[in-house]
Amino acid sequence: MGGKLPVPDLSDDMILRVVSGIRPCREGGLKLQPGKLGSRTVIHNYGHGGCGVTLGWGCAELVADMVKDAAGEKADVTVLGGGVTGLTSALVLAEQGHSVTVVAEHFGEDTTSVVAGALWLPTGIDFPKKKADRARFNDVLRRSAKRFGMLDRGLWGVEELPVYEPADSEEHPEYFESGVMGAPRELTKAEPKPGSIKEGRLFRANFIHTPRFMRTLHEACSKKKVGFIEQRIESLADAKAVEGDVVVNCLAMGSREVFNDQKMYGARGVLVHLEPQELGYIVHDCYKYMFPREDALILGGTFEAGEESPEAPEAIAEEILEHHRAFFGL
Ligand SMILES: Cc1cc2nc3c(=O)[nH]c(=O)nc-3n(C[C@H](O)[C@H](O)[C@H](O)COP(=O)(O)OP(=O)(O)OC[C@H]3O[C@@H](n4cnc5c(N)ncnc54)[C@H](O)[C@@H]3O)c2cc1C
Repeated sequence: MGGKLPVPDLSDDMILRVVSGIRPCREGGLKLQPGKLGSRTVIHNYGHGGCGVTLGWGCAELVADMVKDAAGEKADVTVLGGGVTGLTSALVLAEQGHSVTVVAEHFGEDTTSVVAGALWLPTGIDFPKKKADRARFNDVLRRSAKRFGMLDRGLWGVEELPVYEPADSEEHPEYFESGVMGAPRELTKAEPKPGSIKEGRLFRANFIHTPRFMRTLHEACSKKKVGFIEQRIESLADAKAVEGDVVVNCLAMGSREVFNDQKMYGARGVLVHLEPQELGYIVHDCYKYMFPREDALILGGTFEAGEESPEAPEAIAEEILEHHRAFFGL
């Protein structure tokens, strides 16, 4: 009963590449707060773990509130970091009338942000335990979702897709507690399902085609006259040397060395990219997921906490492929 959703072609000749990225995780979760950088204010915005694309816009709005508190309506702001966190912060600040420059070692294609699929879901991050912090985190999610909802979907590469989870995959009610998305519902016998799923759950979520999203974000920043400087920040002294009334730190893993945050740790994610395929759905079984991104069918993957080497052993890619082939009975 119920039939099957389209089956992807996972044969060897469809494989494009194996990629990996280091999720910028932080014990205790996100750091989104002001601090001191010499006599100036630095606003920290890092530690987004496995969901920086999801959180970007919401964090950026809170950053803008903090910049206003620290330096008023029209400040010179230097944003450190050119991933999704840095560029969403830069754009929101520029939209609010600040003069913004982004300083980063890498932009666009070379950031972790482009490695992400990305599914809009707050995964791979420590949820705050204290009630007030938790409420703020959920507020960030709601703000972020609102901005995603306002985007021109074609231009930014955002689409809503059905997400299927097998019954035995981990359940995370906290992902849905902000109320942004309806909680997963049980699949009925009658409806079609992907692969070997007989019983499971279904919800709908935004999917962000990150290469297009990051390109558009970069262009939107340029249109708002955001400046870009390619530079590595080696130390706190380098951070102190940048110009601006306020500094916004979106250095992700770089915050460990530059701002000495020893709570930061990387979690490697390995993915296999295949030729793109228009499947129209996502399979989500924790980090063993399948995302139909426009430039590649993405097979996940891993979440290797503490592993920071981008050179993934070949065996991992083999295991990912085997898992998905078995799931689809291929
Ligand atoms: C395999 C994988 C899958 C993922 N899937 C999802 C998903 O489905 N949904 C989701 O929301 N998120 C996902 N993520 C997480 C997401 O990619 C990250 O949370 C997000 O990219 C963090 O953005 P960022 O801008 O903080 O960091 P980055 O993208 O890493 O950007 C950091 C910036 O800081 C710069 N920088 C760092 N150190 C220095 C320095 N010393 N000097 C100068 N510049 C420096 C870098 O050059 C870069 O410009 C995934 C990540 C991985 C690896």
